[in-house]
Amino acid sequence: MAACTSSVAAILFTSCNPNPKPKFPHHSSAKPSSYPHLHLRRHNSFPVSATTAATGGALPETEEIDFDREKPREECGVVGILGHPDAAQLCSLALHALQHRGQEGAGIAASDLSSIRSATGLGLVSEVFGQSRSPLSLPGSAAIGHVRYSTAGAASALHNVQPFLASCRFGQLAVAHNGNLVNYPSLRASLEDQGSIFSTTSDTEAILHLIATSKSGPFLSRVAEACAAIRGAYSLLFLTVDKLLAVRDPYGFRPLVLGRLPRDNGAQPAVVFASETCALDLIGAKYEREVEPGEAVIVDARTLEISSACLMPSKPRKACVFELIYFALPQSIVFGRPVHEARHSFGATLAAESPAPGADVVIPVPDSGFFAALGFAKLSGLPFQQGLIRSHYVGRTFIQPSQEIRDLGVKLKLSPVRGILEGKSVVVVDDSIVRGTTSKKIVNLLRDAGAREVHMRIASPPIIGSCYYGVDTARPEELVSNRLDIEGVRKEIGADSLAFLSLDSLKGLLGDEAPTFCDACFTRDYPVHPGELVEAKSKEPLYIN
Ligand code: SF4
Repeated sequence: MAACTSSVAAILFTSCNPNPKPKFPHHSSAKPSSYPHLHLRRHNSFPVSATTAATGGALPETEEIDFDREKPREECGVVGILGHPDAAQLCSLALHALQHRGQEGAGIAASDLSSIRSATGLGLVSEVFGQSRSPLSLPGSAAIGHVRYSTAGAASALHNVQPFLASCRFGQLAVAHNGNLVNYPSLRASLEDQGSIFSTTSDTEAILHLIATSKSGPFLSRVAEACAAIRGAYSLLFLTVDKLLAVRDPYGFRPLVLGRLPRDNGAQPAVVFASETCALDLIGAKYEREVEPGEAVIVDARTLEISSACLMPSKPRKACVFELIYFALPQSIVFGRPVHEARHSFGATLAAESPAPGADVVIPVPDSGFFAALGFAKLSGLPFQQGLIRSHYVGRTFIQPSQEIRDLGVKLKLSPVRGILEGKSVVVVDDSIVRGTTSKKIVNLLRDAGAREVHMRIASPPIIGSCYYGVDTARPEELVSNRLDIEGVRKEIGADSLAFLSLDSLKGLLGDEAPTFCDACFTRDYPVHPGELVEAKSKEPLYIN
């Protein structure tokens, strides 16, 4: 990694009209009377929420099934492009590739070297940047984009959709963040005590306030100062009118890669940053390397010159192992590893340590169990079949008035193939079990479709701890493996047998790099103490479906 860059010019800021909506409990009644540091604004923001539209915004006497709620949820994906005249359009395409990392909101901010414009909205990328609103409305050769899930307490709030665009005395600055700051509550309280007024309930805004209030001159120094004050997980993209800056936290929890997009006519390749390489692939960019933990990569919009700085003292890397298990798309390379190969090896090793003697067929829980099931089938010599078909047309959530109807909901998402299952002893492979509720429904589905025996195999260790580093997991008391031993979980989900990939095997498969991965959801060995967020987590609503 190159030595620190110290010549990044200070940036002149301008002011803009305030519209803060403080919601944080510390100062929930604060009125916007002055704006000493900065405020956030969203240009061209527009809500697009199929669920809200369908229900008129109110859900009385009903409950909402969230089909993906059973799994931990990656909270965000980010992309940044600099050096291409269609930067915003390319950003929107890349965000499509990252849609699995966040489906509740999307946004893009673009710079034309004189100002930054942004557009954000609730819903899928195709809904936000569909026919009614094109990224063409965001001109410029540099852009950053973001997809997000909402976190508890901030559900589907438009003002929390990133990129955030701020104006202050040093100029315009947009930011897109993947991760979670464990010291956000105290950081926010401290900033508010000093006069900062927040417009969102997102920890990302605290980073903007820190940069705006920094007494340092050069922009990079301000970012470095902000990073020294925050703790936790962050892969950040900053856009100024003439620079794109990528920063990864010193532990490297969340992924962030750098690539180049070749151009015609001998033009310099555009520079691309993304959470996953699948976003590079979609727009034809070539993967170059990861942004290193603790590194800042700065790209100048006028010269496309790239420089690198070590922003923070290095720590032992703690990359999220769950990216390999579940979050990332199988075609991606994450933390230098092809994801599909990792999952295949997890499944094969699971078959070696926990075979299912007498079984007839191996089926995956689609889509996330696919490659692990392939690995299990190959190692065990059993046929691999698609015994469950996932519907790609049912929405992300489903409003249901009664428990009885909600119990049928999983059939909207997963349909058993009776011809494959009837009379068979079936091994069903999934990537993980969180609460166990969906696993139980899947076992019932398979039995109802005629399976003689159902052997559940899980290609990761039992989840016993919540995540505080940018993944929306259940509260500890909701985690079925935190409440019950493996035999207890087996009984709860109703399988004939149940086995998890052992932690030792997982570490063995990661080899020499095993200590460089975070595995806290399997061990509760948290690399950065989650401190203040533990209490916040305990106040989240319990999910009961
Ligand atoms: Fe990933 Fe689990 Fe660590 Fe969270 S606790 S960063 S999900 S490995």
